[in-house]
Amino acid sequence: MDTQMLIGAAFETGTETEEAILDPKTGETILMLAEASPGQIDAAVAAAGKAFRTWSRTTPAERSGYLLRIAAAIEGKAAEFAKVEALNCGKPMHAVLGDEMPAIVDCWRFFAGAIRTMPGPLAGEYMAGHTSMIRRDAIGVVASIAPWNYPLMMMAWKLAPAIAGGNTVVFKPSEQTPLTALMLARILADILPEGVVNIILGRGDSVGNALINHPGVDMISITGDVATGKKVLQAAARSVKRTHLELGGKAPVIVYDDADLDAVVNGLRAFGFYNAGQDCTAACRIYAGPKIHDRLVADLASAVSTIRFNQADDADNEIGPLISRRQRDRVSSFVERAAEQKHIEVATGGKVSGDRGFFFQPTVIAGALQSDEIVRREVFGPVVSVTRFTDTDEAVAWANDSDYGLASSVWTRDVGRAMETAARLRYGCTWINTHFMLVNEMPHGGLKQSGYGKDMSLYALEDYTAVRHVMIAHG
Ligand code: NAD
Repeated sequence: MDTQMLIGAAFETGTETEEAILDPKTGETILMLAEASPGQIDAAVAAAGKAFRTWSRTTPAERSGYLLRIAAAIEGKAAEFAKVEALNCGKPMHAVLGDEMPAIVDCWRFFAGAIRTMPGPLAGEYMAGHTSMIRRDAIGVVASIAPWNYPLMMMAWKLAPAIAGGNTVVFKPSEQTPLTALMLARILADILPEGVVNIILGRGDSVGNALINHPGVDMISITGDVATGKKVLQAAARSVKRTHLELGGKAPVIVYDDADLDAVVNGLRAFGFYNAGQDCTAACRIYAGPKIHDRLVADLASAVSTIRFNQADDADNEIGPLISRRQRDRVSSFVERAAEQKHIEVATGGKVSGDRGFFFQPTVIAGALQSDEIVRREVFGPVVSVTRFTDTDEAVAWANDSDYGLASSVWTRDVGRAMETAARLRYGCTWINTHFMLVNEMPHGGLKQSGYGKDMSLYALEDYTAVRHVMIAHG
């Protein structure tokens, strides 16, 4: 197993506090990893700063070539990556290998192509005797900080557009899930020039905090909790750094009476519970029309009760455990507080499962009201709530009545109603008769406290480059 950080061309072990990296299926320690020292953080930022001088001058075609080689190297080791990711996150191996690895490889390939074809406005004479043109240039050193739910995918989303755009990066994986980042460090060191990507380990309030406040960092890109996003904004305000924030979510799912009930139930069973619900787009806040509500609750509870987890043969598992005991206990306390309400029924699940690892039963909470905590706060676990609405205006108002604004979905057979509802929702994405589907060509990002800035798509390349105007006087 790779255990060393990448700083410039050097592989180094951290010298500060050690963090236990756990197997969430058993709770056992896989290994201990020490976090970076202040000197190592400085060295990583300095290496990125030095590399920027030459990397930012390479052509898109050259950078594209590097990205394609990285994609091929990850693809060549997909099974090894999937094994380590599954171990560190508790995910079923087949989910990582079958669903996540192809999307990760495709992300690197997408940005390899996209950087060569970025569109832009025409150069021209907007003042007599002067020609103006627009450039999109690299920003500088990006401090890139990732969460624990999709470690290698978040790395692709953050690194590929940043380095495609000519930036250099200091990347900090989550202190809970650094193992695939350390594997990828070996590939990146083999392929990229020294210092283009540096990978350092550590906790948020120590290494992360030092990184976002570092004077050598020009931009901060973070995926994480809203509270963490606010800390990034405070740090950025001190030195006016650019920020790219992908924060939490609490996706509303509006199910109209005319929806295809089987499709809804199958969709929610899959998209509310994938990755044990540890997904910022998880289909977790369901609003059901008055006529479909009771059948939906009954069918969904029965479908969710069949979700397979914690099976001896991993091939039989559909979902894994939560990432940590803390996260499992957090999920459990949300459900306990909900269950104390008289109007709420726990239609299935609701309990911690087993005495080994961090499993929680897939859970459906029925009878939830718009004002309930379980409807308002991000649980980030295998728990969905169902709330009955009376008409479209109420459904849309409740869906929008959230601090979050990342993802949403609408389920109906009526195309007009679907389009009308989608237009009224204040979310970065609205799916119609599906949920959760992402493609590298399309943007992913939020409104409101879900943050701003897009991952994937040409919009990410825009976020990781600066628009500049160059004007030539020619008499
Ligand atoms: P988190 O905010 O606790 O941690 C995310 C990262 O930020 C970690 O690497 C952590 O070490 C670092 N960090 C924490 N405090 C920091 C600080 N003061 N300074 C600098 N870095 C700091 O989030 P998490 O628990 O790892 O991930 C779950 C959260 O991420 C959820 O809220 C989820 O919705 C969100 N998320 C959002 C998206 C999205 O695309 N919008 C995707 C995945 C996860």
